Amino acid sequence: MSGVHKSYGPHEVLHDISLTVAPGQVLTLLGPSGSGKSTLLRTINHLETIDAGAITIDGEYIGYEWRGSKLHELPEKRVLQRRTRVGMVFQNFNLFPHLTALENIIEAPLSLKRAKKAAAIAQARELLAKVGLSDRADHYPRQLSGGQQQRVAIARALALEPDVLLFDEPTSALDPELVGEVLGVIRELAHSGTTLIIVTHEIGFASEIADHVVFVDHGRIVEQGPPEQVLRAPRHQRTRDFLDKVL
Ligand code: ADP
Ligand code: MG
Repeated sequence: MSGVHKSYGPHEVLHDISLTVAPGQVLTLLGPSGSGKSTLLRTINHLETIDAGAITIDGEYIGYEWRGSKLHELPEKRVLQRRTRVGMVFQNFNLFPHLTALENIIEAPLSLKRAKKAAAIAQARELLAKVGLSDRADHYPRQLSGGQQQRVAIARALALEPDVLLFDEPTSALDPELVGEVLGVIRELAHSGTTLIIVTHEIGFASEIADHVVFVDHGRIVEQGPPEQVLRAPRHQRTRDFLDKVL
């Protein structure tokens, strides 16, 4: 992302945001409530448009393409295809309630990637095994705990084999005893070289797995750097105040 600005009416929510995630790296985004973290994530897959700046993945825009020397907005169908490069996991899981765990996972590969059904099911079973839910394939979301639902949501996001996976406070809706199982799955993804951008208030977890930490406040990057620096020796008073509150 470079020089990204975003406003809702007169209210500027993102101000001059520039950051980079290298392949296989984990970036953790921290900041107070209302600081623009969710909006920032949503701009990455073009769920929100931006007013200025640029966001590219491997050199490619999700919502635009160059024709000659001009950027043109892509039609919705092309955006949906390109958006498959970015997986997203939400705070409230957002599973389809009328579909089983397995059906939730195969939905996007079938509709967006025109995968063959047998192949999609085989992949979904592998992903369920990866998140420790082989025995829950035929359960509906209401029959699963929050931690299990979130693990299905992670498997669903992985089914599109995204270049980068975005997590928006993936454990903040969970009962405390269920947080660990979800962090465990994310930790494994981090160790297996998946590129991750994670919004979280779990500072201990962030300092353990992040390669890079970005602290935002009022839509601006206050500081960014390796966790040893931003979390253990923050340079700015606003970062220190925030860490004092969440630790
Ligand atoms: P965070 O995730 O850090 O809590 P958000 O990105 O959700 O912050 O919100 C940042 C600011 O943008 C907040 O002031 C919020 O009220 C505002 N905002 C978010 N979405 C919208 C929207 N669709 N329309 C207007 N204002 C919004
Ligand atoms: Mg948010």
